[in-house]
Amino acid sequence: MIRMSTFQELQHNDHSLGLYCITCDRWGMADLQLLIDTGRGNYTVTGARFRCTDCGSLVQKQLRPPAPTLGNTARYI
Ligand SMILES: [Zn+2]
Repeated sequence: MIRMSTFQELQHNDHSLGLYCITCDRWGMADLQLLIDTGRGNYTVTGARFRCTDCGSLVQKQLRPPAPTLGNTARYI
């Protein structure tokens, strides 16, 4: 079983956290290392709220698994 409820667990499992502002129609990424370095590594992902740096609206979160590797082949996506 893999636990990914906190920022630290997300980073440990090579996942990332996408952030989407519906007002600005803009995507960003949560800086998990910065969150951990500033003592928030044990905060839960579901309980955390992020605000858009442009408009200040609360943003939606999207848990992202690591990108699959294709060996030495070139990526086309
Ligand atoms: Zn925004």
